[in-house]
Amino acid sequence: MYGIVRSSSRILKFQNVRYASHSCKILVLGGGCGGCTIAAKFSKKYKDQPNHVIIVEPCEDHYYQPIFTLIGAGVGKLESARKKMKDVLPKDAQWLKDSVVGFDPENCKVTTKNHTIQYEILIVALGLQTNWNAIPGLAEGLENPDAQVCSIYGPNTVSKVFEKIKRTKNGSALFTFPNSPIKCPGAPQKIAYLAEDYWRKQKRRYAINVVYNTTLPVIFGVKKYADSLWEVCKRRNINVNLQTNLVEIKPDKKEAVFQNLKNPEKKWTTEYSLLHVSPPMSAPDVLKSNSLTNEAGFLSVSPKTLQHTKYSNIYGLGDCTSSPNSKTMAAIAPQSKVVYKNIMATLEGKEMDHCYDGYASCPLVTAYGKCILAEFDYNLQPRETFPFDQGKESHAAYLMKKEAFPFIYWNLMLRGHWNGPKIFRNIFHPFEKTPEV
Ligand SMILES: Cc1cc2nc3c(=O)[nH]c(=O)nc-3n(C[C@H](O)[C@H](O)[C@H](O)COP(=O)(O)OP(=O)(O)OC[C@H]3O[C@@H](n4cnc5c(N)ncnc54)[C@H](O)[C@@H]3O)c2cc1C
Repeated sequence: MYGIVRSSSRILKFQNVRYASHSCKILVLGGGCGGCTIAAKFSKKYKDQPNHVIIVEPCEDHYYQPIFTLIGAGVGKLESARKKMKDVLPKDAQWLKDSVVGFDPENCKVTTKNHTIQYEILIVALGLQTNWNAIPGLAEGLENPDAQVCSIYGPNTVSKVFEKIKRTKNGSALFTFPNSPIKCPGAPQKIAYLAEDYWRKQKRRYAINVVYNTTLPVIFGVKKYADSLWEVCKRRNINVNLQTNLVEIKPDKKEAVFQNLKNPEKKWTTEYSLLHVSPPMSAPDVLKSNSLTNEAGFLSVSPKTLQHTKYSNIYGLGDCTSSPNSKTMAAIAPQSKVVYKNIMATLEGKEMDHCYDGYASCPLVTAYGKCILAEFDYNLQPRETFPFDQGKESHAAYLMKKEAFPFIYWNLMLRGHWNGPKIFRNIFHPFEKTPEV
C-alpha cells in the first residue's frame, strides 16, 4: 500500500525531479533530537518494510545541543557535539534531505521544496527557530570580533564564546534571557556561572561585575531549585535583575539597551565588557499561521497524549509543540514513548493509554565540577531520580551532565532505547506515588 516513487537508496535526492511524490505510513518532520528518536522507534518496528518511515530533514549535521553550554566554557570542542546526519538517522528509515514548506492536513499531505508526501501518521518535531535578527545589533555584534558579543545558542556561535570569556579582564559582563520561550531555560544562567568561576580561578573576579538579566519574574520556575540558585548568586556576588529585557545592542560602542518589563517605557543603556545573549526563539516559520498551530505558532497538541488537538493522525514532540513543559532534550525521552505507544494503539484501533506528565530535567551547572540536577513535571514539582538531595550542588551531577548524558543520547536515545530515567526513579524511590496529570 505504501511506496516511495523511485526510491532506490536510503537517502533520497531528487536534484532533477521537481515535485516527486511519495507515500508512507509514518512521516517524521525534523531529524533533530525528537525526530531522530521517534523515527528510530518506528523503524525498528517496521524494519522489514523500509519504505514505511520517511524523515524530512535538510541538514547535513546533527548536534547534541545540551553540551554547547560546556563548550562555551572551554570544556570540549564543537566536534564532540556533531555527527553526520546520515550516521544518526535510523538505517531502516528513508531520509528525504529537504525542507518542509507546507501542510495539507485535510488530505494528509506535506509539501517540501521538491516533493509531496502522503502519510498515514504525521509526527512533527521541527524544534525551535533562533531569531538572531529580532534584537537590533545582535547579528552585527556576533560577527564583529571586537564587539565582545557571544552566544552558546548556535553551532556557528558557540565556539567563539570561550575566547571572549578569556579576553574579559574587567568591566561589566552581562548575560541575558530573552522575552520568548527558549530551549533549555537554564542554559542562559549556566554559562554565567561558568564564566564567573573561570574569572575567579584566574584571580580577576574582583575587577568584573557579573550580571544576569532575565525577562522572567523568577530565577527558575521550580521553587526548590530557585532557592538554591539564589544562594549561589548571593554567595558569589552575581547580580540578578528580573523582568529585564535586552532590546538593542550597539556593538561599536559596546553598549546594550535594556527595558523594564514591569514598566516597558523605562529603557536604559549600559556599557559592557562581555555580552552573552540568549536570542529570542519561536516555532519555525513554516509552522506558524496554519490550522495546525495555536496562537503563538506552536503545534497544538494535547499535553497528555501529544496528539494534535484537531487532526487525530498528527502527533508532535519536542520543542515545537504547545505542550507546556520545559523545552529540553530530557523531556523528549518520555514524550517519545508516549507518542510511540499512542500511535501504535491508534493504528491497532485501541484507546490511547499513555500519558505524558510534563517530566523535564535541567542540569544546572553552577561551576566547573558542580551541578544542581533539577528534575520536575508539569506541576513544577521536583521529580528527582537519585537518592540524594538534587537541590544541592554536586560533582556527581556534573559528571552525569558531562559524561553520562552525551553517552545516553548518542548510544541509547537516538537509537530509540531511552525513555527517560523513570526506571531508576522507581528503583531508588519504590514508594513514591506518581502524581496526577
Ligand atoms: C545551549 C543549549 C543548551 C541546552 N542544554 C540542555 C540540557 O542541559 N538538557 C536538555 O535536556 N536539553 C538541553 N537543550 C535543549 C535541547 O537541545 C532541545 O530541547 C532539543 O534538541 C529539542 O529537540 P527537537 O527535536 O525538538 O529540536 P531540534 O533538536 O532542534 O531538531 C529540530 C530539527 O528540525 C529540522 N528542521 C527545522 N526546520 C525544518 C523544515 N522546514 N523542514 C524539515 N526539517 C526542519 C532542523 O534542521 C532540526 O534538525 C539545550 C539546548 C541548547 C541550544
